[in-house]
Amino acid sequence: MSSPWSKVSNEPVQTISLADIMSEQYAHRLHDQELKQQQKRQQQNETLPTATPTNAESYSNVASTSAKASQKPTLNSDAGEWEDYSMLLNDEGKEQAEPLPASLLSLLEDEAESDAVIAQMLQSQFDHEYNEELRRIERQQNKQSKVTVTLNKFLRSGDAEFLHDTEAGADDEDDELTCLKQDWDCFETNEKMLDAIPKCGFKLDKEGEMITKHDPQLCGVRNAQRVMSFPPEFPTGDGACFDMKLSNKVFNQLKAYSRRGRADRKEKVATAEMGVDAATRLLLYKLINNQILEQINGIISTGKEAVILHANSDASYTGTNEHGHGNGVLMPAELLPKECAIKVFKTTLNEFKQRDRYIKDDYRFKDRFSKQNHRVIINMWAEKEMHNLMRMQSIGLNVPDVVVLKKHVLVMRFIGDNHNAAPKLKDARLSAAELSCAYEEIVAAMHKLYNEAKLVHADLSEYNILWYEGKCWFIDVAQSVEPEHPSGLEFLMRDCDNIISFFERRGLPNIYTKEQLFEFITALNAETHNAAMLERIHTRGASINQATVPNQTECPDELKPLEYPFELAWEKSLLERQMRQAEAERGQEAKEKVGEDIDQSETKLSNDSDNANNTAKCP
Ligand code: ADP
Ligand code: MG
Repeated sequence: MSSPWSKVSNEPVQTISLADIMSEQYAHRLHDQELKQQQKRQQQNETLPTATPTNAESYSNVASTSAKASQKPTLNSDAGEWEDYSMLLNDEGKEQAEPLPASLLSLLEDEAESDAVIAQMLQSQFDHEYNEELRRIERQQNKQSKVTVTLNKFLRSGDAEFLHDTEAGADDEDDELTCLKQDWDCFETNEKMLDAIPKCGFKLDKEGEMITKHDPQLCGVRNAQRVMSFPPEFPTGDGACFDMKLSNKVFNQLKAYSRRGRADRKEKVATAEMGVDAATRLLLYKLINNQILEQINGIISTGKEAVILHANSDASYTGTNEHGHGNGVLMPAELLPKECAIKVFKTTLNEFKQRDRYIKDDYRFKDRFSKQNHRVIINMWAEKEMHNLMRMQSIGLNVPDVVVLKKHVLVMRFIGDNHNAAPKLKDARLSAAELSCAYEEIVAAMHKLYNEAKLVHADLSEYNILWYEGKCWFIDVAQSVEPEHPSGLEFLMRDCDNIISFFERRGLPNIYTKEQLFEFITALNAETHNAAMLERIHTRGASINQATVPNQTECPDELKPLEYPFELAWEKSLLERQMRQAEAERGQEAKEKVGEDIDQSETKLSNDSDNANNTAKCP
């Protein structure tokens, strides 16, 4: 019976006990045998006429000798291991793989003495075949797919080391760099090729083939290159390390995806760490570094347009830094409040756009407003809040003192105690007497603001008034405008409405109506106010400030608001419209009349000529 795996040998198997194999004696015997074999081999070589005395054991010689003998090699043959390995490489190698390159043969000649080299050479041959197989798979795969793949990553390094004329271990880094450069060069060449295509959209290459800008090969490489330029946070892998090509469809999808990620990232950055972005954090850090602030404790409020933070000022602040600068602090060191509120105007959100109208028509900022980028406009908002606070403070209104302004970050006094912000008027628990006091105070403040500071708050309500130490404190004044602002009076009317509605809801008796409050502030009654608004439209280009100046004696006569009610103005404009209509109608009639006259004269003329013709024909 035959074995399915191999032929059963007829020779009896020599039995060796385990103890024998393990014994030292056995090891010695093997060693002696090996020595004897070596000596025998040397004697044989000496008798051979072709043998070179210097290279007696050269691998190639042994190989040729063995080949001449045309014996089937066996690893345990008496001819020795060298011959056996050479037979293996020469005969079997020929059948299964390519012939060994010259470099390997020369290496064999030089290094045949070392077992390690033999092993490496075998490994090298294996690597070479393995790599060939990978390249074949790669070619097959890329034939069918839109996206080119590479298996370079899996190539075995022994191949390059032994089958090419490179010295092992030398210039590895250089090679890698050259390789990388070649990849990018390929991108560059591709780009140049695309750029070289003229406006007509195509070009003939050296072989006379037409190349267009939409050539899939060129576009594929360009897309791959563009992917490499995605933001660093977007993991693209290293597409430059192989001949990557991406179809337009794949590229567009990747681009859309990378953008989606970017929006998320931006949002994350902006909302990270107390709702402030990196640029703001740097400004805050500088405030601490300049010994103005000691620490920033947390958020008091986050609104659509600003984040308010609580901070402690630095007790060691002396008024100047080590360079002798005051760091922009607007008050003497001894007045620096212990607790500060930091208003950070948001730079990433678009809500501030709604506030454009407050600033772009404010003559103080008008020139600077145009053609500015978002960040600069936001800085102007912060600056506007600072100016308005200071102006209000100068007339004795209760507002937080401004400590320092840095770009879009405004530091001011914290209204409250021990980290507890004063409540907004809407949240304050007020007794009837306090409510009445608050009302009186606000009405007086609005009057003062308009008449002395020449400002309209423009967002005055129970939300932007804090109740602290039995008094009202006015905050959030970035949007405040001067009365001459085209919408100044509208804003004032809205403020009056907010305030009166609040006290009405709280049930405070004997208060103004919003019109009365407006009249008290501006000395223009509501009807006059309407008239003034109309008048402003009539007196196009004239300053509304002049037309609505509170002190009537200073107003030039021609610009004094007319004392007529809205209805009168309406009637007046109606009358004007009727007159214009009547005029238009008259014009139309006149035109029609002229048309009729022309028609009549034409008919007459044709009749006359007909008559003339008739006359001519007549004998
Ligand atoms: P927003 O534009 O978001 O309305 P505000 O200036 O009105 O910004 O501030 C929002 C909130 O932050 C206020 O309602 C108030 O509670 C608090 N706040 C603002 N400034 C101060 C301050 N100086 N001291 C104490 N709290 C303040
Ligand atoms: Mg507010």
